[in-house]
Amino acid sequence: MLNSSHPQQPASNQLGISGKSTNGPKESTSYKRFRAGLPISDVAAGRTEKFGLLRTAQSLIHDHNKAASEQHRTCWCHRGTANPGAGVSVYRQTSGDSARLQGVTTCKSVWACPVCSARICAARQAELSAGMQAWVGQGGYTWLMTLTFPHERGVPLAQLLGQFSKAKDRFKNSRTYKKILPKGGVRRGSVTSLEVTLGENGWHPHQHDLVFATPDAFGLVRELDGGRMASSVIDELKAAWYMALRKAGLCEQSQMNDVLAHGLDVRGGQYAAEYIAKFGKEQKWGLSREVTMHAAKTGGKKAGEYAGAHPFQLLAWAAEGDDQAGREFREYVHAFEGKRMLSWSPGLKKELTGLDELTDEQAEQNTMPDEERVGRIDSEALSVLQSRRLLGNFIGYVATWCTDIEVAQQEIDDYIEWARLQPRVSRGEVKRKMHVRGFAYADEELPA
Ligand SMILES: [Zn+2]
Repeated sequence: MLNSSHPQQPASNQLGISGKSTNGPKESTSYKRFRAGLPISDVAAGRTEKFGLLRTAQSLIHDHNKAASEQHRTCWCHRGTANPGAGVSVYRQTSGDSARLQGVTTCKSVWACPVCSARICAARQAELSAGMQAWVGQGGYTWLMTLTFPHERGVPLAQLLGQFSKAKDRFKNSRTYKKILPKGGVRRGSVTSLEVTLGENGWHPHQHDLVFATPDAFGLVRELDGGRMASSVIDELKAAWYMALRKAGLCEQSQMNDVLAHGLDVRGGQYAAEYIAKFGKEQKWGLSREVTMHAAKTGGKKAGEYAGAHPFQLLAWAAEGDDQAGREFREYVHAFEGKRMLSWSPGLKKELTGLDELTDEQAEQNTMPDEERVGRIDSEALSVLQSRRLLGNFIGYVATWCTDIEVAQQEIDDYIEWARLQPRVSRGEVKRKMHVRGFAYADEELPA
């Protein structure tokens, strides 16, 4: 991965701003180290992979039959400055793990954009964590209830989501659910999280409910394997969920035993805490090939062993030339457009944390406590980074090397000067690299 995240190093005489230059500024130490071939850190490389995936997403989502203004907003993410004429600030995490740009156009799509999604999920994760701590501090208990259904390949995702939504409404409005988990009774409220993976049996939408309730909300429970809880109350909920799925057309009577065994499960506080701790955490999509759909598709994995691929994994495969993964990513983006990822019961967030509801837009704008502004670039420099496909590498460079605020701006300028001398990456090269046939390429109508 390091090679791909580290572009060819320039020879010093190509740079035109070497230490020998009489007029130009002196090269910064970090920049010299970078140029000498020291790569960006592994952590930063992992964190910047999402910029490459964003570029892939933009190519896949772009619809060449539509005008520029009608394109999905993710097509424009990080492609220009948010306020014309204004610059772009460069922020760096003091840990050196990552960096980011502020003042660029962002799409704020939690589903389609690997870059915006990471920022939004980080803000959401902090809220969840605060909510759980507050509730536990009041003597409450957080349960993790998961709702799913038997899935088979070939059913369009949009259709499944519609049916799944109907089943959830029916279940939550059922007499059984209201009797067992009444709001304001044993249950203070819930946070629901909608997710999807793609596995050997096709799309697998599921929902996790963090149930803020009393320690005895699910009756007298005993723990089964994998932390799943059993009780007579949970059995009643399972039966109600089966009925809701039947009515929504998501299972047959012949699947009753399967649904009762796997359709709904409840786990205890430790699992809820782990779920919250990991919520939205970035993964190295390109590196997780062992659990990939490729293996599942080719029968390399036995049933049950396969965990399912996250949609951003599809982007990594599409970038490597997997046409089907590209089509599946597009289907996913269209099916999830306008859906909410996380929903708190009305008033619950404010009651527990004192925090107001944040829109995804506001969450994306949040400044993290551990980051500092280390410099700025202008819109022309941004297009230099874009046209050389160096945005992710630049972010990694800032994260790894711009440790000294006194000289960080100089180091940023040095990098941009070097980037300017790198060849533009042509559409043809990207196309050849991606081997994706039949997709329109965003670059044709988007600014370089
Ligand atoms: Zn975005």
